[in-house]
Amino acid sequence: MKLSSLSKLLEQLVPSCFAEVWDNVGLISGDPQQKVTRILLAVDLTPGVLAEAKKRRAQMVLLHHPPILQKTNKLINNLDSTGLIYEAIHNGIAVYVMHTNLDAIEGGTNSVLAEMLGISINLRPVRLVRTGSNYKLVMFVPAEQAEMVGNAVFAAGAGRIGHQHRYSECSFCCGGVGSFHGDNSTSPAVGRSGRREYVQELRLETIVPAAEVPAVLTAMRTAHPYEEPAYDLIPLEPLDDRVGQGRIGKLTRPVTVETLLRRIKKALGIKSLKLIGPSKRTVGVVATGAGSISDMLPDVLKTKAEFLLTGEIKHNWALLAAQNGLSVAVAGHWTTERPGMERLAKHINSAVKGVAVVLSSADSEPLVNC
Ligand SMILES: [Zn+2]
Repeated sequence: MKLSSLSKLLEQLVPSCFAEVWDNVGLISGDPQQKVTRILLAVDLTPGVLAEAKKRRAQMVLLHHPPILQKTNKLINNLDSTGLIYEAIHNGIAVYVMHTNLDAIEGGTNSVLAEMLGISINLRPVRLVRTGSNYKLVMFVPAEQAEMVGNAVFAAGAGRIGHQHRYSECSFCCGGVGSFHGDNSTSPAVGRSGRREYVQELRLETIVPAAEVPAVLTAMRTAHPYEEPAYDLIPLEPLDDRVGQGRIGKLTRPVTVETLLRRIKKALGIKSLKLIGPSKRTVGVVATGAGSISDMLPDVLKTKAEFLLTGEIKHNWALLAAQNGLSVAVAGHWTTERPGMERLAKHINSAVKGVAVVLSSADSEPLVNC
């Protein structure tokens, strides 16, 4: 499969628009015309991961962490992340990133952690993220032409909803009476000019992604019988209760912190972790923050969460959590993100045909207990 086609499929699975504004996701480097038959998945791009990609003849590395986050104006083969990108390009290996967009989606890094912990009741993101830019298009159409206008706007890109747009041709309509008064220069499709006319119309509503607005409006105008179609184009707040950073919800049954820590260690395959805050109590409302909790901790503290699983926490945030009576398990940045990549590998393998996805064995937690 060509890299350009593969990128489109990956974009449908984990849309870049779910990422935080500071992030750098999607295709980072590569030739869109290049053929890809094998992808190596890893949390980080390291010399070991790149060597493995070469050895396994992968034409793409799909990473969680962007190797380039800051604006870069030099690409030199030296000992920094731009050197690794240089080497990847040199070896015909494309670099693709799914980072905070993977954290945000259903089935992403945070969802997988929540599942491992047994958070099954009222599971939702801690903080919603913007999911793109959509408009509601409201058109007023004579009933006889409503289907034709609907077909035209659907064909131009309107009416698709849901993750990966699994539902298309979505609309709503209801009837009513429209009025107009055309001056003598007009030639209305219904009634006459120079007097007020009343027409039975349908109010036809549908959704349009921002990028498709020009094409959809042109299609609507072309198919609509009126000289001057009446329509409203309303910007929508792009929030979806299933897409956001972190996850929070209730455990099937409240458990002691001790039990939950045992569950985490077993699920993540680790022997130890760090705990901040109360250790001797029973908890029912649990949150996750895969990787680094960073500035999401205040959002967690605003909820009723009694326990948080994260990978990494700054000293001052740790003190704040303890002060607020939140128990926080810190299991390692990479360790809390790798299960999401494992799930992603399975997901791509079943959704994208003709491309083999393999998890990197060189990719590992850089901080080890000793
Ligand atoms: Zn991370």
